[in-house]
Formats: sequence, C-alpha cells, structure tokens
Amino acid sequence: MAIVIKGGYLLDAERPFAVGDVVIEGDEIVEVGESAERAGATILDARGKIVMPGLVNAHTHSNQAIEKGLCDRLPLDSWMILASYGGAGTRLEPRDLYISAMLGAIEMLSTGTTSVIDCMRTDIAWFDEGMDAVMQAYSDIGMRANVAAQFADLDFFSSIPLSLIEAPAALREERRRASVGDILTRAENYIDRWSLKNPRLTPMLGPSSVARCSRELYSETIRLVKHKKTRLQSHLLSAKSQVPVAEELFGGSTVRYLESLGALGPWASYAHGIWIADDEIPVLAESESVIVHNPVSNQKLGAGIAPVPALDRAHVNVALGSDGASSGDSQNMFEVMKSAALLHRIANPPEHWLGSADSLRMCWHGGSVAMGAQIGRLSPGYKADLTILKTGELMVGPKEQTMNALVYSEVGRSVETVIAGGQIVVDGGKVTTVDVGKILEEAQDLTARIWAGLPERLQAFEKLRPVLEDLERTVGRLPLAFNRLCG
Ligand SMILES: [Zn+2]
Repeated sequence: MAIVIKGGYLLDAERPFAVGDVVIEGDEIVEVGESAERAGATILDARGKIVMPGLVNAHTHSNQAIEKGLCDRLPLDSWMILASYGGAGTRLEPRDLYISAMLGAIEMLSTGTTSVIDCMRTDIAWFDEGMDAVMQAYSDIGMRANVAAQFADLDFFSSIPLSLIEAPAALREERRRASVGDILTRAENYIDRWSLKNPRLTPMLGPSSVARCSRELYSETIRLVKHKKTRLQSHLLSAKSQVPVAEELFGGSTVRYLESLGALGPWASYAHGIWIADDEIPVLAESESVIVHNPVSNQKLGAGIAPVPALDRAHVNVALGSDGASSGDSQNMFEVMKSAALLHRIANPPEHWLGSADSLRMCWHGGSVAMGAQIGRLSPGYKADLTILKTGELMVGPKEQTMNALVYSEVGRSVETVIAGGQIVVDGGKVTTVDVGKILEEAQDLTARIWAGLPERLQAFEKLRPVLEDLERTVGRLPLAFNRLCG
C-alpha cells in the first residue's frame, strides 16, 4: 500500500527547502511534489514538520554495542588491546551478537539513522551462525544494513611498529589467527546465503586492515569481492603508528599498496584515513573509493585529525561513521555530523572549514556511495528511507537556519517517524518493529556478563601497558609532516 507524506518541509542536499508531499510505493519514493494523491494510501500529516532522507552511519561495529563507556583516556593502540583483543576477550555468541546489533539499531533508528555499514566481528568457531544472527537482527528491526564480515589472519601485534621499541620477543613472532582458506570459504558462503535474501540487507567483506591481513588474505578477499560483485569495507591509516608500519611493510604508501592489490574502487570504503599523505589523495579520488570519517571516535582515541577538507576539495567521496560503541560510544549521527563540521576548524584556516550542509551531504551522499544504495535523497527512484522530525520545541527559527539547527543543536530528540524501505519502523519516536523493552532487558544481562570479565581483561592489559606506553611515546615523537595533521 502506498504512503503519502503530506505538507512537510522537504529537506535534502539538492532541493530548495520548501513544503511538499512525498509518495512512497513499495520500497521507493515515486513522486515528490505538491498535492500528491494516491487512492487508499496511508496519509502521514507532516505539516509543520521536517521530512528528510534517513541518516547513514557508514562505519560501526555492532559487536561493541554493549561496550559503551568501556574506557577513557586510552590511545588507539592501547584501546585495541583492552576493547577488542585483550585478555579473555569478549567471545560473543550468536544470540549475544543479535542483541548487541539490536541495541545499536534501536539507538540509530530512534535518532533518525536508517542505514548502516556494520563491520561485524564474530568468532571463527561460530562464523556462520554469528553473521546470520546479526543479519537477522537488522531484518527483524527493518533497518537497511550492509554487514561486512570482519576478519584478519594476523595477530594484532603484526600491525604495530614493534621494531621502533624494545618489545618482548614473544610479541614479534608472527601468529596466524586463522587459515586464509578457512576464512574465505566461510566468507563466500555468507555472501551466497544473504545476497538475494532481503532487499534491505547486503552482505559485504571486511578485512580488518591491510596490516592485519597477510598479502594472500587481502588479495584473495579482493578477488572474491570482484567475483561476487559485492562490496568491501576495511580500515586505513587509523593511527599514527600505521605510518612507520607502511614504511616497513608497504614501501611507504598504504594507499598505493592498496592500489597495487586492486583494492581501490567505488565498491571499496575505508574507515578513518587519518594519516593519508597529500600525494595519496589524488589516488583515492581517481579510484572513487570512499573514506569514512569518524570524528568522534578519532577524538576519543586521540588518533589524529583526518584531512577531510582536503579530501573534499579533491572530490574524494567522504562518508560519516560513528565507529563502534567501545570507541565512539553513541551511535547517534547528529553527534557525528556536528563533530565533522567543527573538528577541522582546529587545524584549518576559515576558508577551508566545513559547514552543516557539508556534514549532511557527506552523511547522505557519501553514505549512499559507501553503501552502493540509491539512498540519501528525496527524489523519485530513491529508496523510501526517510526521517520526519517535529519542529517547534528545540528547533525554532527561520527556515534558512534549518541545516545549522539540525547539525549543531539537534540530538535526535525531534525524530518522530522513521521509514526504512517503505516501512514505518519508528512511530511517535519509538521503534515499533520489535519489543524494545525485552531486548533492553536481555542487553542488561549481557552487559553485566561482559563487564564481569573486565578485571581479567584489565590484568592482561596491565602486563602490556609498558610496551604500549613506550610505543605511544616513540610514535608521538616521529617527525611526520604537519600536512598529515590538517588539510
Ligand atoms: Zn572501525
């Protein structure tokens, strides 16, 4: 049945901000205009409200949703040990992964985000069931999701420049976490199982980063992505320590190494890209690859400032992401858009500052390129992923200020109705597709269980702390060009 959204202020990056109607049939927008009618349609009265495309979160890790507030004042490489890989770790079983993904999805949908790229890590022992559980969560709640199976075959310590410090010999040994064949067989089966199952869901591949994968695994992954015509998301230059790693392993330029592997293209998105050098920017632009900027997470981990204004000027596709909840905490894209607009003012002259319209454009347009989906606009032929916000409470003022008001003062509290793939999934500010209370109850139990293992993880972390602190100090002193800090 059709839905007609009547009389709202229509906001997207391409159209004048004016009153109009939106007609949805199936999962698509079929008409945008004045006085649109459809016999028997569900009518949503949007008079006095803002109707805009749903926001796109182009990088997170749903397995971290139960780790909000995990750590503070820890730089990235140390955080990696505590949050993701250290001590007893957090071996989330398939049901845990389902609940964790639900928790993130509830937060995103109720703050106006309709689409997500989730780099999801599951245990190799239950890879199939873990991936299926997360896909099922997005299917049940009705969110558009590209879920990248995240994997690596090398130990975390292979990805940091231990040669710069006096590290224990045991850390320098190369340890394979899983065999390339085993990972790729499971990954291929995952793509096959989910490729045509649900139009809102896209299975993708997510090799963790080029430094955490053997050359064999990374290049075979690229081959599989192309063979299956699917998509890839990975991490790129997310900490300063990756610059000396690139010099040691890739002859200096990680981006050119990726290019040599055939890993760049509009089907590939790379999270962070903080330490991209000036001469790597044109390579990214030409290949039409996407950089996903995660300004909140980057600040929390003190990882650096990505050269987003320079990327934007060079016409590199830039999307926005919250990153996982153990580093970026909230999954609220209003917070991410505000931070993306403000952060670069610290490192750039005013003529290069980004504004609220840039944040919205990166979120919608960059997000649509990263997802490979026809989303992010109010226009016929685009997917019916929309967010309706009430006005008059927090947002008062002339319509010329609307983008500024949304990016700088909205936190998602005005979100009233959310439609994803033509289905109403949030009504009156509440997710309607699942029993939120029950999920939150189960999430509390899961969180308590995971946090009970924290003392053990902290103990393992403390053993490594001197090495990590030595690394931070040494890398911090590296005389890298200032242009890696701004742009
Ligand atoms: Zn990430």
